[in-house]
Amino acid sequence: MPDCVCLPGCPFFNDKMPDTEGMGAIYKKKYCQGEFEKCARHMVFKALGKAKVPANLYPNMVEQAKTIIAKG
Ligand code: SF4
Repeated sequence: MPDCVCLPGCPFFNDKMPDTEGMGAIYKKKYCQGEFEKCARHMVFKALGKAKVPANLYPNMVEQAKTIIAKG
């Protein structure tokens, strides 16, 4: 599995977002260097573009991502 294309500029991957409950390293392995198609940030990026990805959206917030995408 290749790394996520967003990885170099992603605030989550580059530790610009607070680490919630020490999940940062786990999510990086699970999403950024694994199933990035399932990452909430990547979902919004792919559907609407980088500018529409909220600063506080974490990889596991898939329901929020779906709502954002539905609203366009
Ligand atoms: S998988 Fe999600 S959090 Fe990780 S680099 Fe890609 S967009 Fe960012």
